[in-house]
Amino acid sequence: MPVKVAFWQNSDCWGCHQSLLNAHLGLLTVLPELEIVYWPAVVDYKYESLKERADGEIVVGFVEGCLRTNEDIEGTKLIRQKSQIVIAFGSCSCYGNVHGLANQWDIQECIKRKFIEAESITNENPKEPTEHVPGFASKIVPVDEIIKVDAYIPGCPPKPEAIISAVQFLLGQKAFPQNEKAFCEECPLNTGGCLLDAGVICFGPVTSVGCSLKCPGEGSPCVGCFGPAINVAPRAEKLKEMTKNIASMSSGDKKNTYEFLSLFLNVPLMAGFDLSADILKQIKKTGQVQTPLANIPSTTLDIASNLLQYLRDNPSYHEISNVCDTCPRIRGRMKMEKVKRDYEGLPNPDDCLIEQGYICMGPLTRAGCGGLCIKVNAPCTGCYGQTVPGVDQAERFADTVTKGFNVALSKDALLAQVKDPLGTFEKFTLAENKKYRGRA
Ligand code: SF4
Ligand code: SF4
Ligand code: SF4
Repeated sequence: MPVKVAFWQNSDCWGCHQSLLNAHLGLLTVLPELEIVYWPAVVDYKYESLKERADGEIVVGFVEGCLRTNEDIEGTKLIRQKSQIVIAFGSCSCYGNVHGLANQWDIQECIKRKFIEAESITNENPKEPTEHVPGFASKIVPVDEIIKVDAYIPGCPPKPEAIISAVQFLLGQKAFPQNEKAFCEECPLNTGGCLLDAGVICFGPVTSVGCSLKCPGEGSPCVGCFGPAINVAPRAEKLKEMTKNIASMSSGDKKNTYEFLSLFLNVPLMAGFDLSADILKQIKKTGQVQTPLANIPSTTLDIASNLLQYLRDNPSYHEISNVCDTCPRIRGRMKMEKVKRDYEGLPNPDDCLIEQGYICMGPLTRAGCGGLCIKVNAPCTGCYGQTVPGVDQAERFADTVTKGFNVALSKDALLAQVKDPLGTFEKFTLAENKKYRGRA
């Protein structure tokens, strides 16, 4: 039976849907398994038709765009009510995006600027429109502040591959065929020298047999490459207890938990697809998503949920990888002497953009896009979101680049040359910053 999906679109450029369509032949793998019941951008279904659907009738609701108008807020709540799983689709939905920069001003100031003062207005008697307009929210907030979100696909727009990957995950197309036995049963350390017994996080008790490498035999824990086993091994309970206390794990164990989630669930978590802690439980509950993930044993479900919860509570985990990690540009040959704006000169395509004088947000930005902008000779502006959210990004940028890059300027001198610090360092995420919410 096809899975019912809906696409809700709030205030934005609708580019995320353009990106979805840009998947071209990639859509062939998923479209036959979807029943699209609402998608105004493409098939013009009417709002009333969405309202008439039963609560929870839609399996996956995608929410694109920011919450600028009262209509955005009402529609987003409606899609939550009608959907079992909700995905925040694109950086507007995940973080508020450039629209969030408006939070620097009072909404009345924004309205005056847009409808009365803007240089492009030709009407001799401009005024705020009052008919056929939905009214504006006083401040923009990320979508997960008004509804529960089950998964996130950031990016402005998200890469087509990331969107298809997310849909494939939900359809179970990315899951492994499951074997009955867990890896422990074949592990060379099962009867002596077990890593888990020695306090090392090893995912052998919940992972399918099937690999020939048998990492524990080489001293490395199993990180779940073969996906979930149908039956867990007895040590699964102990593993579950250990994953309740990730904060006290060694950094090596913490890294392995990240790797485990990506491999075990077969989703590229660092490549722009974040999952909430209970997404697996949601999938199981739907009963309509025919994925092996819907059948994983409850102990495994608890372990994966513990790890996902930790990731959501500690987003600085994303510090593991940033855009610079995938950038081929050479560092150390040039030196930033002054801050250049993007229109000043043409950067050479080989050297680090920061060291050529441009503000490139690569070192602060989550990996996932593969350096799309850098490849076309443009600095990263940070659309995938920061690796460490909720801190002063200007300060963090200046600190990072004066310590780790070839920069002749002091932190203060660098920041003094940036014309629009918020628009530069928090372009996509200012809506997350409560400092600019006022009394909203
Ligand atoms: S927990 Fe890991 S090391 Fe221990 S027996 Fe299972 S797979 Fe081997
Ligand atoms: S700062 Fe930008 S140009 Fe320099 S290495 Fe990082 S991503 Fe590449
Ligand atoms: S390089 Fe930066 S701005 Fe460009 S797509 Fe990647 S994260 Fe977004």
